[in-house]
Amino acid sequence: MARIVVTGGAGFLGSHLSEALLDRGEEVVVLDNLLTGSVTNIEHLFGRHGFTFVHHDVSTYIWVPGPVDAVMHLASPASPIDYLELPIQTMKVGSLGTHNALGLARAKGARFFLASTSEVYGDPEVHPQPETYWGRVNPIGPRGVYDEAKRFAEAITLAYHREHDLDVRIVRIFNTYGPRMRAQDGRVVSNLLVQAIKGEPLTIYGDGTQTRSFCYVDDEIRGLLALLDSDHTGPINIGNDGEFTMLELAELVLEVTGSGSTIEHRPLPVDDPTQRRPDLTLARTLLGWEPTVGLRDGLERTAAHFRRQLGDDATSG
Ligand code: NAD
Ligand code: UDP
Repeated sequence: MARIVVTGGAGFLGSHLSEALLDRGEEVVVLDNLLTGSVTNIEHLFGRHGFTFVHHDVSTYIWVPGPVDAVMHLASPASPIDYLELPIQTMKVGSLGTHNALGLARAKGARFFLASTSEVYGDPEVHPQPETYWGRVNPIGPRGVYDEAKRFAEAITLAYHREHDLDVRIVRIFNTYGPRMRAQDGRVVSNLLVQAIKGEPLTIYGDGTQTRSFCYVDDEIRGLLALLDSDHTGPINIGNDGEFTMLELAELVLEVTGSGSTIEHRPLPVDDPTQRRPDLTLARTLLGWEPTVGLRDGLERTAAHFRRQLGDDATSG
């Protein structure tokens, strides 16, 4: 049994990760300032043996009493609407927050795990994206606050590895969706599902020919744990390599929800990547990991979550 600190553990991915760690018998200490997360995501974990929640901004000094075996650093706004609204906090948590989390891992002799992102590839010219691709990021565009913070986070993680011999893992997460996404999260899967369920027009940014590859949350968390447990430093891509245009996604959302919503085009955000698909060769060969949940199946499960959430909201409102 190990004791694992999860920064950002009250968020979408962090709460699923914390639950999976508890399920396999680990102790979990969540550090989260609830900037984009919510106690609702973890309230079912409070009664569980070995679970602790600390309300803390990890961009300020972090201290956790007692032994720590791993620090998993997930704290960061992740939805474009969040990081465009919170540019400085996003840069701080990617830089100062990562530095503090590395310092904690070093002081405790713990393994450090960084949640990086496919956004380090920017608007990629190499397709699909292997980990060897350096990316095409606009450092001064609005998305740069997130992309560059994560690129800095990868660089300082490897600096700690090289200079202090810290045991580190870096995952590059590709678009992940599933239950516990907020209805107002702003990412495309939650937006379209919620709009379809409510019978509102589906908002497609630009002409909808841009592509993404969507990974169901259970697959993603299994991949994160496989990397944590492995001997590989990374970075390693974890995502689903099925690739869809946003128009194809919208069609599937309409089918899955049985909705009669129309499609409404909105302006394409600045620097919106035109294509994205992970090259999963490393994940498959080094980790023996494979995504298993197809988009239709994952959308059905996520639609059920939003139906419950929207139904509950309607009842309580
Ligand atoms: P999320 O917004 O649901 O969760 C992020 C969590 O971090 C929230 O609970 C938030 O309150 C917390 N947080 C933010 N700043 C903090 C700070 N300074 N101190 C403490 N806590 C702080 O997002 P998510 O989708 O769960 O993403 C989790 C991580 O995975 C992020 O690092 C993100 O960059 C990475 N990631 C996610 C995706 C995805 O598709 N979900 C893709 C690539 C990378
Ligand atoms: N998008 C869209 N409609 C929405 C939200 C997003 O068409 O309501 C598009 C967005 O422009 C991008 C893709 O969907 O091309 C994925 O956006 P998301 O915010 O989910 O994640 P990103 O991969 O851009 O970080």
